Amino acid sequence: VPASLSQLVSDHLRVVPDFPEPGVLFRDITPLLADGVAFAELVEGLADHYRGRVDAVAGLESRGFILAAPLAVRLGTGMVTVRKGGKLPGPVIGVDYELEYGTARMELRPDSVVNGSRVLVIDDVLATGGTAAASIALIEQAGARVEAVCMLLELQDLGGRSVLEGRHIDSVLTV
Ligand code: AMP
Repeated sequence: VPASLSQLVSDHLRVVPDFPEPGVLFRDITPLLADGVAFAELVEGLADHYRGRVDAVAGLESRGFILAAPLAVRLGTGMVTVRKGGKLPGPVIGVDYELEYGTARMELRPDSVVNGSRVLVIDDVLATGGTAAASIALIEQAGARVEAVCMLLELQDLGGRSVLEGRHIDSVLTV
């Protein structure tokens, strides 16, 4: 991923302390989305990077959807929605995973991915890696291949990269 995109993300990121809970430093990408020039530059830059390398773009609910949809259109591929539990009409496959407090679940409609296709997974933030790991497992269970994982922001201290060991991870910005 080109270095110019890192600057773009860092210039348009809002860091909000104690949201949605005390102690969490929330990384808000809405200033980037609200800037039409910056958003277009990001999508074009990512499209240039992945063009010809993937057959579909999978967005992780919900901010991953915002990134996956324009990217898929620019790449001329379809978009796949990996959703939180209970949102997709069946038949679905699901994976439960551990959060710091409690558990979460991601689901996928297996017929929304093509067997053997190369899928790019995209989301806004890589934190502990649980969401991405569950989503990757679902895509592969459905018969597709995860070619790369793209994150706008990687929070290095939370160790997501080691949870996704062996995966090709493109973090636009790492903090
Ligand atoms: P994780 O499964 O821990 O890697 O968390 C990743 C998911 O939670 C992503 O979908 C992010 O959108 C969201 N997330 C986790 N931590 C943050 C944070 N500090 N700021 C914004 N979003 C976050």
